[in-house]
Amino acid sequence: MRAIRIESTGGPDVLELTELPVPEPAADEVLVTVAAAGVNFIDTYQRSGLYPLELPTGLGLEGAGTITAVGAAVTDRRVGEVVAWTDALGSYAEQVTVVAERTVPVPADIDPAIAAAVMLQGMTAHYLANSTYQLGRDDTVLVYAAAGGVGRILVQLAKRRGARVLACTSTPEKADAVRRLGADEVVFYREVDVPETVRSLTGGTGVDVVYDSVGQATFWDSLQCLRPRGLMVLYGASSGPVGPVDLQELNRHGSLYATRPNLAHYVATPDELTWRAGALFDLMNAGQLEVAVHGRYPLAEAARAHADIESGTTAGKLLLEP
Ligand code: NDP
Repeated sequence: MRAIRIESTGGPDVLELTELPVPEPAADEVLVTVAAAGVNFIDTYQRSGLYPLELPTGLGLEGAGTITAVGAAVTDRRVGEVVAWTDALGSYAEQVTVVAERTVPVPADIDPAIAAAVMLQGMTAHYLANSTYQLGRDDTVLVYAAAGGVGRILVQLAKRRGARVLACTSTPEKADAVRRLGADEVVFYREVDVPETVRSLTGGTGVDVVYDSVGQATFWDSLQCLRPRGLMVLYGASSGPVGPVDLQELNRHGSLYATRPNLAHYVATPDELTWRAGALFDLMNAGQLEVAVHGRYPLAEAARAHADIESGTTAGKLLLEP
C-alpha cells in the first residue's frame, strides 16, 4: 500500500510517497481503507520538527474510511463499517490501523470525506464553544482566523449558542464567507488596531472571550481586547508559538483568565469523543453546520497540501484522498 513517510524533518519536500506492507491491526485496533485524510497544522509542526517525532515516521492524524479487518479483542466495530478518527499517526496512507475505541461510526448519510473534514477542526470548535467556556447569549467573542478550518465551525457554533461574534480575517472573500456563516462583525485584523476596534465595537468594554489561533502575531493584542476577568483562549500558533508569558500580565490587563487547551484533553474518553463527533454529525445531517472543503489532493501531492495550508491563504479543510 502507498503511504506518506518522512525520513527527516524539514519543509514540505521531506514528504515522500512510499510503498509499505499493509499494517496488521493489534488486538485493540481496526484496519481501515482510508477514504480521506485531513491535513492539519499539527501535521506541519510534526513534519518541521516543532513537535518532534521518532523518525522515520508516517504522518497525518485524522481520517475516515471503511474497516477491512478487526483485532482479536475488538467487539464493537465490524468489517465494512465506516468510521472516522483524529489521532492515528500515519493516516496519510491507503490503509492505516486505528485503536478501535478512538474511532466513531460515520452515519450513512454523511460522505466519509466530509466526516474526515469535520473531525479534528470540528471537535476543536465544539470544545472551545461548549467546554473551555460555555458560550451563552450574553457573551461577545473575538474569533481569529474566523474563515479558517476551526474558525468557520467555531463561528457557527458560537452563533448557535447565542453569542455575538466579532470575526477576524484578512481578505474581502474571507469576510464574505464569515458574514454568511453568521458573524456579527468583521475585523480585518492585519490592517487595523485590533484592541481599539474591539473597544469601539463593544462600547469600550472588551469581549468576554478571545479565541486566538494565530499566536505570536496576535497574542498581546488579544489580551488588550478582553473585558476585566475575561478569558484568553490561545489554542493555536499559525504565525508561530507565543514565548514565555509573565502571569503578572493577566493582572495588568484586568485579572484575566488564560488557557492553552488541546483537543486531546477534551476527547480523552470514548464517551466524550462520541458526544462531540455525534453532535457535529447531527448538526450536519440537519443542514445546520456548513463544512467547507478548500481542496482535495491525491496522496502524491501531500507536499502541495502542506505548502498551501502553511501559506495562510486557504479557507476551509484540506483533504488527501488516497
Ligand atoms: P486555518 O484554516 O485557520 O489556517 C490558518 C489561518 O491562520 C490562515 O488561513 C490565516 O487566516 C491565519 N494566519 C495568520 N497568520 C498566519 C501565518 N503566518 N501563516 C499561516 N496562517 C496564518 O488552520 P486551522 O483552523 O486548522 O488551525 C489554526 C491553528 O489552530 C493552528 O495553529 C492549529 O495547530 C491550531 N489547532 C489547535 C487545536 C487545539 O486543540 N489546540 C486543534 C486544531 C487546530 P487569515 O487569512 O484569516 O489571517
